[in-house]
Amino acid sequence: MVQTLPAAVGFLAEIHQDGGRPLEPVFASLASRATLKERTADQSLCTVLLHSGAPDGAHAHAQGRTLVLAGELYNQEELLGLLPGSTVPGSDAALVLALFDVYDVHAFRLLNGRFAALLAAPGRAVLATDHAGSLPLYASAAPGRVLAATEAKALRTAPAGRSLAGRPVRRLPGTHQVPAGTVLDVEVATGHCVTHRTWAPPQARRIMREEEAVEAVRRALADAVRVRTGRDTPLVVLSGGIDSSSVAALAARRSAAPVDTVSMGTDEADEFPQARVVARHIGSAHREITIPTAELLRRLPHTVWAAECLDPDVVEYLLPLTALYLRVGGTGRRILTGYGADIPLGGMHREDRLPALDTAVCHDMDTFDGLNEMTPVLSGVGGHWSTHPYWDRDVLDVLVSLEAGLKRRYGQDKWVLRAAMGDVLPHEVVVRPKLGVHEGSGTTSSFTRLLTDAGVPPDRVHRAKHLVVRELFDQVVVDGRHPDDVATDAVVELVAGRLASLPRPVLDERRT
Ligand code: ATP
Ligand code: MG
Repeated sequence: MVQTLPAAVGFLAEIHQDGGRPLEPVFASLASRATLKERTADQSLCTVLLHSGAPDGAHAHAQGRTLVLAGELYNQEELLGLLPGSTVPGSDAALVLALFDVYDVHAFRLLNGRFAALLAAPGRAVLATDHAGSLPLYASAAPGRVLAATEAKALRTAPAGRSLAGRPVRRLPGTHQVPAGTVLDVEVATGHCVTHRTWAPPQARRIMREEEAVEAVRRALADAVRVRTGRDTPLVVLSGGIDSSSVAALAARRSAAPVDTVSMGTDEADEFPQARVVARHIGSAHREITIPTAELLRRLPHTVWAAECLDPDVVEYLLPLTALYLRVGGTGRRILTGYGADIPLGGMHREDRLPALDTAVCHDMDTFDGLNEMTPVLSGVGGHWSTHPYWDRDVLDVLVSLEAGLKRRYGQDKWVLRAAMGDVLPHEVVVRPKLGVHEGSGTTSSFTRLLTDAGVPPDRVHRAKHLVVRELFDQVVVDGRHPDDVATDAVVELVAGRLASLPRPVLDERRT
């Protein structure tokens, strides 16, 4: 069971066989830092851990191997059953290392968690992401050297490496993002890499009776909330929509004390009345935070800095949450969200045709990787740790694999989830239509207006958003500027100017 924040929320690790200048550890996550240095006969390992007070829990050592783990596991109880009775590892890192001794790289197929890991063994570096790549991991390798970090910006000054398996990072030559649900087994001397997939979204669909499906969803989600809820009172970011209301209600049911909930709105739009209904029903200690639209838009550079994402739609979803996390205050809160339910359930899909729904689910499950929607760095910029029960490995397996008719039923989207929550939420919440966070906070409209006010024609707005996000990425990730020193307005003007000065066909050709 998770008791506190993870021992570490991020790291930069450098393995060298022949020396090498250490990189400057640059992170968006706000956390204490601890440096760990080790030398063996053939290589050195230097790790900077981002930790929350107990860095020793984030690394483990045995038989010449060192394991560094950022994040946390959610199925420790099951995993412990795989080890001899006398073995009781004292941390998630020690548990993974003990499993590695038994299963080698296949240990990572066993884990349900939110983590990124690096294992250093003689001549070998093993890099691993969780099933969803929900804690991003980047790497750069060359003969005699393997560098890995949970934020790409920490590798921005790395010497160009050889091509690794994974997604190249824009304008950081040789730096790649380790794919979701993947282990890269790298031979340090050569930089040669073998890839193992440890998870893939289910392709088949299960046929279940209504009650059976409802029960499976309820059980999986309640378990995912349970294993994510620490001893401290959790904080749920609550909109009043079905996804976050379900998480808040399940957290409240297992907590003796009232859980904390918080809703954000702007001076343009909010979902405060909807969230209040839920807060009252579950008896949470509820807060409302209104963020002026000007402040919201000033957080665009911080959002790109944290998420290292180039997709303007995703950045629009993440912007209001980043602004909220920066305003939550306090330190080191464990935050639960309802993020991501729409992807496996096809919740964005608002028509009745089942083939189209499954097409949307397949597409979204095929393309989520690399968007960094789930990254904990978003809340990390405020010093907090967020976790998403809908993207628990077991919840995701259940939700994705349900046949489409259980997701859309009786004219309702996310039917199976709504049915599973019938006894814990008021009816008006159970049937509330979806409203995306970017809509409910007025984020999409205010970002659009910022661009049209700068002279961008309405039909070029989406293209302009893409260019703004790319420019921000270049400034805060590639060039290493701090987002406090980057003005959204100035970037918008730059992009509006470029759009005005280039003929459309040229722009379209440059769509990269
Ligand atoms: P629905 O998808 O049915 O609207 P939802 O509002 O819970 O349900 P999203 O709109 O997809 O889900 O938003 C994603 C998540 O972001 C939410 O589950 C919630 O945790 C968080 N969130 C969204 N809007 C707000 C808000 N105004 N204040 C606080 N958290 C929010
Ligand atoms: Mg919503």
